[in-house]
Parts: sequence; C-alpha cells; structure tokens
Amino acid sequence: MGKYTKEDILRLVEDEDIQFIRMQFTDIFGQLKNVAITASQIQRALDNEIMMDGSSIEGFVRIEESDQYLYPDLDTFAILPWRPQYGKVARLICEVHNPDGTPFAGDPRNVLKRVIKRAEDMGYTFNAGPELEFFLFQTDEDGRPTTRTSDEAGYFDLGPLDHGESTRREICLSLEEMGFEIEASHHEVAAGQHEIDFKYADALRAADNIMTFKLAVKTLAQKNGLHATFMPKPVPGTAGSGMHINMSLFKDGKNAFFDPDAPGQLSPLAYQFIAGLLAHVQGFCALTNPLVNSYKRLVPGYEAPCYAAWSSSNRSALIRIPAPRGQGTRVELRSPDPSCNPYLVFAACLAAGLDGIEHGLTPPPEIAENIYAMTPDARAARGIQSLPGTLEAAIHAMEADSVVLDALGPHTSAQYINGKLREWEEYRTQVSQWELDKYLVTY
Ligand code: GLU
Ligand code: MG
Repeated sequence: MGKYTKEDILRLVEDEDIQFIRMQFTDIFGQLKNVAITASQIQRALDNEIMMDGSSIEGFVRIEESDQYLYPDLDTFAILPWRPQYGKVARLICEVHNPDGTPFAGDPRNVLKRVIKRAEDMGYTFNAGPELEFFLFQTDEDGRPTTRTSDEAGYFDLGPLDHGESTRREICLSLEEMGFEIEASHHEVAAGQHEIDFKYADALRAADNIMTFKLAVKTLAQKNGLHATFMPKPVPGTAGSGMHINMSLFKDGKNAFFDPDAPGQLSPLAYQFIAGLLAHVQGFCALTNPLVNSYKRLVPGYEAPCYAAWSSSNRSALIRIPAPRGQGTRVELRSPDPSCNPYLVFAACLAAGLDGIEHGLTPPPEIAENIYAMTPDARAARGIQSLPGTLEAAIHAMEADSVVLDALGPHTSAQYINGKLREWEEYRTQVSQWELDKYLVTY
C-alpha cells in the first residue's frame, strides 16, 4: 500500500494552501527537470494527463514522437520548504510514459524499476545508502561561481573555521522537513568541502532522495550567497567529491548479506554480489563517473579508488565492508561520484550484483594493504586491475559489457554512449591552460 491516495493529495493541496505543483523527472544525464502546474490542474496531473515534449529533453526521443506523459508517483508528494510558505509549492516525482501508456524506455526511473523487478522476482529488496560530498564556493561580485572558499577547515572541523556550518544546518533542517532522516553532517577533508549523510532506503527512494538532496543543497547554498557544486574534482591537488554507495540485499525483511557464522560474518550471497560488482566495475564506470572531470578524482592519494579491489576496511580499495553487522551489514562502493545519474547507477550496480549471484561468482582475495603504495608490478602480481583512466576508456568498457548494456536497455544505453562520446570529443579538441604552460615556450 502506498503512503498517499489521490484523495489524500487533493486534500493536502487544499488544506496546505498549495498553489503550484512541480512535476519532476530526471533526464538520462542526471539533470532534474520539471514542469510547474497550478493547483487548478492537480486532478489532471493525478490522472496522468500532464504532457511534455520529450524531444526537448537530452537523450529522450526524436521530434516525430515527442508527446510524452508524466505519471506522478503519489508517495513522492512533498512540500518544498525553501519556497514561500503562503501559496506553497509542492513536488511530485514522475515517470515518463508513451502516449499508448507504456513506460518510456529512456526514463532512468523506469530503467531502475525494471532491474528492481528482476531482484524482486528473486525475492530481494535492494537498499542503498549514499554519502554525497560537495563543495561550497564563494560567488564573485556578479554572482557567478568561483572556486574560492574563505573556509580553512578540514575533516570534522567546526566553526569558526568551518564557514559552511550554517548553510549545512539549513540544508539538514529543510531535508528533515521533507521527511529525510539525516544521520550525520560534517566538514570534509578539503577546504569548502562538506558531506551530509541520510538514511538508506530501497533503491528507487534512495535515487529520488539523491535528486532531492542535490536540489536542496544547491538552492540553500544560493540563498546563503554561496555556490554548491557536485563536480567531482573542482580543485586540483586536493580531495575530490565522491558519492560512496552502501548497498545491501534484504530478503523477507532480513539483511541477506549477514551470516553470523560465515567468514567476516558475510554471507556467500554478499561475496557473490561483491564479485559481480568487481566484474562490471569498469563496465559501469561511465555511469558512476560520467564526466571528463570524474577521472581527475580517480587518482591515487585522495581516498578515491583507482583500482578494482575489495577490502574489509582499507579506504584505498574500491569496495569496503563497513564495520556494522546484523541488519546494518553492507558493501560500500567508493568509485561513484555525485555527478552521476543515481537511477542508472543503481540499475547497473544491482544488475552487476545479480550477475554475480546468478553465476555464483567468487571475488578475488581481499587486499588489506594500501593499494596506492603498491608498485604496478606488485598490483599486477596480485591481479589488481585499474579503473578506466579517462571517460573515453570508460565508454569503451561500457560498450563491451553486455550486463550493463542490458540493465539500461538498448534505447538508454545508445543515447547515453552517444552523448558521452560527444562530450569526450568536445573535450579532446580543446587546448588547455596546462598545455600552453607546458609547451608554448619549450617547443
Ligand atoms: N573524498 C573522498 C572521495 O573522493 C572520500 C573521503 C571519505 O572517505 O569520506 O571519494
Ligand atoms: Mg566522506
């Protein structure tokens, strides 16, 4: 049973003095989109009659087949706390459907739902708990973002060093008003860098929550005269921003990764899931790390992974097993960054884990030492592979991974790969300041 019925929503719109409803969805490159309707149109919205032009959305459809319909997920109804509190604004997260009523294959939410259904048919619920890091930067006199921060704080520091403290507080309080359970928030390693963690949820809700989280962070930073960015590596030579994902499978309400009698108290299923992730981590890297800039984060020395290995504790490994056991048992994937499309990333990770389960894969032995400190020969001797070094290499790895392509489906994977190849080509033909500094005089 869902949380809200249509009648509940009609009543809430009336009782809460809601004037606008934002019908939201996400494009394949992870951008949140919306069309606002006035309260007078709410009945039509609830009857799935709100239309939009899919040809204007990146990666959606061609101009000849552009009419699409928004089907709101009633349980996502929430009031936006940062909008005026008289004549309020609410939002509904929607699925995109074709005119014949079928789910549109290019809607990332539909993509994730398809893979979730596969897991459900096997008896599993996929839970995800993301940890998003981001920077708060100052704006210049024209209000444009800079990469300057007046903040000298580091990991877990507090005011007066931490200048983002009050913005972070507002973000936490606003998200709580929207039903989030905030578990922790703190200053991160780099100056101006922050992290706010919220409670895990089933993957669909977790992906919705990530989109809401990013909107809240950006909006509330702007209200405080700051610019928030989820760009993975905005400042060279300092930590980048990750979006580690804690994953678990539940069966009949119990954490299926926990086995009190097994090695490391991890069930065989957990090891198979880890093996599946490791088998496809290169193949889904273009999804978890979607930008040219993502690959500037995946370098040694900043707690971001570069090599495909797992460990029960080591933060240089790609997959870590955090200490909690019992219902809190989970696998932490450390490669994703917060510029990713969470729907597609969860779909690919789940498909990879299920592949490990279906084929009964065994992970390679755990790597307990600091992998950054190993020589290439030492890594080769242990069979530790690298993550792709560029977006281009990641796209080619994705093209070669049928499990990832199948998880996305032919429409979304083709659109995604084409879009990302164009992005790579655009980057490749630029001449950067680094090249000028390095070569202009010497050659
Ligand atoms: N900022 C690091 C990254 O890029 C992670 C730091 C941490 O372990 O929280 O993934
Ligand atoms: Mg962190």
